[in-house]
Amino acid sequence: MQQQHIHCIVNDCHYWTQGNKCDANEILVSTNDFAESQPDQVDAPMASQLTPNAAGICTSTACKTYATKGSAKANVDKVKRMS
Ligand code: SF4
Repeated sequence: MQQQHIHCIVNDCHYWTQGNKCDANEILVSTNDFAESQPDQVDAPMASQLTPNAAGICTSTACKTYATKGSAKANVDKVKRMS
């Protein structure tokens, strides 16, 4: 099976790793409005229960899984690093 990679250039994220890759075992991409209105606990592990909606343009989307490196927020969403 081919390995998939999420490439990311946000290097102050807890899940970011060398080579500009995301090391999270799963991520949640949402609209900016959703990311701003929902608590940190709402993230990829709950994805199947969430209601999708339209963003319209690229810049209206956000990585909901982002957590600032070194912050306590990295542990509240139940997303794990793969390595
Ligand atoms: S969780 Fe999101 S912001 Fe963080 S490294 Fe992965 S893709 Fe980038």
